[in-house]
Amino acid sequence: MPETLVDPLASFTGTPATPTDALELEVRRRQRAEERLEAELADAKLLQGVSAALISEKNIGNLHEKLVDAAVGIMRSDFASMQMFYDDKGPKGALRLLASRGFNLEAQRCWEWVSHETASSCGEVLRSGKRVIATDVEQCEFLIRMGGLAAYLGAGIHAMQSTPLISRGGKLVGMISTHWKRPHEPSERDLRLFDLLARQAADLLERTQAEERLRQSEERLAADLEAMTRLYELGNLCAQSGRSRSQCLAAVLEAAIELSGADKGNLQLVDEPTGTLEIEAQRGFGPAFLEFFGRVRHDSASACGAALNSGTRVVVEDIATNPHFAGQQSLLVLLAEGVRAVQSTPLISSSGRVQGIISTHFARVHRPSERELRMLDLLARQAGDYLQRIEADRKHRDSEGRLAAIVEHSSDAILSIDLDGTILSWNQGAELLYGYPPGEAVGRPVSMLIPEKREDEEPEILARIGRSQTVQHYETVRRRKDGTLVDVSLTVSPLKDPAGRVVGASKVARDITERVRAREVLERTVAERTTQLRETVSELEAFSYSIAHDMRAPLRAMNGYAQYLERDFGEKLPETGKNFLRRIAQGAGRLDRLITDVLNYSKIARGEMRLEKVDVEKLTREIVDTYPNLRESGATVLVQGPIPPLLGNTAALTQCVSNLLSNAVKFVAPGTKARVLIRGEVRGEVARYVVEDNGIGIDEEGRGRIFRLFQRLNLAAEFEGTGIGLTIVRKAVERMNGKVGVDSAPGLGSVFWIELPHAR
Ligand code: ADP
Repeated sequence: MPETLVDPLASFTGTPATPTDALELEVRRRQRAEERLEAELADAKLLQGVSAALISEKNIGNLHEKLVDAAVGIMRSDFASMQMFYDDKGPKGALRLLASRGFNLEAQRCWEWVSHETASSCGEVLRSGKRVIATDVEQCEFLIRMGGLAAYLGAGIHAMQSTPLISRGGKLVGMISTHWKRPHEPSERDLRLFDLLARQAADLLERTQAEERLRQSEERLAADLEAMTRLYELGNLCAQSGRSRSQCLAAVLEAAIELSGADKGNLQLVDEPTGTLEIEAQRGFGPAFLEFFGRVRHDSASACGAALNSGTRVVVEDIATNPHFAGQQSLLVLLAEGVRAVQSTPLISSSGRVQGIISTHFARVHRPSERELRMLDLLARQAGDYLQRIEADRKHRDSEGRLAAIVEHSSDAILSIDLDGTILSWNQGAELLYGYPPGEAVGRPVSMLIPEKREDEEPEILARIGRSQTVQHYETVRRRKDGTLVDVSLTVSPLKDPAGRVVGASKVARDITERVRAREVLERTVAERTTQLRETVSELEAFSYSIAHDMRAPLRAMNGYAQYLERDFGEKLPETGKNFLRRIAQGAGRLDRLITDVLNYSKIARGEMRLEKVDVEKLTREIVDTYPNLRESGATVLVQGPIPPLLGNTAALTQCVSNLLSNAVKFVAPGTKARVLIRGEVRGEVARYVVEDNGIGIDEEGRGRIFRLFQRLNLAAEFEGTGIGLTIVRKAVERMNGKVGVDSAPGLGSVFWIELPHAR
């Protein structure tokens, strides 16, 4: 380092007197110059050595020692010291002694830490921000004022200088000081050289600080890594199926004690019914503690109680001074166990419920670092998940127990098969129904239960199961062990593995022998009754037909004789007599119509009903043309072709058309001229035959009645009739396998329709 060399001639002064003197002077001058040169060379070497060492030396501690040695050498001092500045120590930062020369133990201890408040040269540098030189400590103003003199005198120090070490970035990084046993004033040259040393020292301290920070963060990382590994291993341990709950909880507790750097600890779980905390795992506690803290309520004077109560972590740095413990028995118990500080972290389930508490205890007043608390959080989360998982497992197992019992004792046969149809399980009900004990059924093909004629069923069912479909209440027949057949109702559902793949089927079979028998009995009874009823009805129909038929002859006779009476003796009869005769004729007419209708009905109801293609449009036109009363009634009838041909019976359709047509022209309000439109329409496979009128219309209640026998909505005096016409229409249409209906409203006319297959 060339700049460390000071020009040796720069301080040369003086003038020669005599030649001899001059020679002597010259010799002395040269000697002095040489001495100075040597000294400066030595200094330069020293500095160079320090520089070289700074570059090559790996051990920073050794470097601090070398720097202090160099300071003694350069300043020719008796003592020297070097300090590093910690800006995070105290309110304004503080200096810490790194290395010293000549200090006795007491001095080392006294100046281990120096701050703004310290009565020392370094303290004064911190206060003033400049180099401080005290040539005689006994004259030093700040020592006298602040009273630090005794320490210096005690250490044997009478003069000193302290030089701040400033980094290249302009920050104070430390200080380097030299001290003398006697009052001393360092020369300008010494100080200049010293400044060069200080420059080196500042660089070194900066490096020291950087390395310290790196080391700290490496340490933190290593610790984090270790903690994470620990948590990971713990997670694995808890996931192993062979581990018991108490083993896992003990492992959790060990990890908590280790991660929080504690001396002892315990893990408590909440007892659901009582809401108290109960110790599940503990390390380091004696019987008195376990007795006292065996059950803890949320309102107890304890960290775990408070954590349970609040659902958040509680840290007590010193239980002896914490007001919550003051005067409590828990304090005495804890102190007797050697506990001074404690932290309690709740274990919270994903639903937010406190499941338990992990507490760790410290022998000294202590607060775990933020990092340790973070680790505890991770641990607590892991433990919470674990507890939740085993709880869910337990519930699942319980329900499977319960389910297995239900299956086993069900009166239904319940069995499971794989996709090949091999029986995997077989309950009591199955044994009861089919006669095979489980040992003879499990492992055998389910086809042994299927009767010969139904062999196709099973592959079909399995195919549906393969498509994840369920077969519900399928009634079939199965074969018992003894070969007899049994009626069953089957429900077959797919069985899936956890990944959702169908791996087999469960079958529930119920013996429905009774039901089938009952149904058969019922069906037989219904059939028998229906036959009986049909017979009765047809007997009645035959009876009414014969009555009607038999009544016709006497009626004709009565009518005939009444007409003869009128024709032959009419003139001789008084007016009243003629009137009686007219009434007889009217009554006979009405009775005749009734008989005609009854006979028509019987024909439609009982007669042969051969179905054929009927040109209903042609049929309608013929009826309209020949309709007896149509012209007198003055009604307009419009047949709107084409009307699609129907598949029906000509005679029956003739009856239907004339009945609908006669109603359409009859039921019109007095004074209104009847207008009737007859049309047809095709609706897919069927054709509709429609009769629209402008008559009085029919209300809803009426529409429900009119197709039944003898139902008439109007007074006989208003509209004459028998109440049989629409009944005939309905019966005829039913026998032709068609439908009949009406759309109408009072005063708005009616639309009657018949639907029959469209004959093409
Ligand atoms: P009838 O015509 O002999 O009275 P129906 O069985 O043919 O007997 O008809 C039953 C009842 O239905 C009739 O009495 C009448 O009240 C009502 N009805 C039938 N057709 C019509 C119609 N086109 N308009 C209004 N009412 C009708």
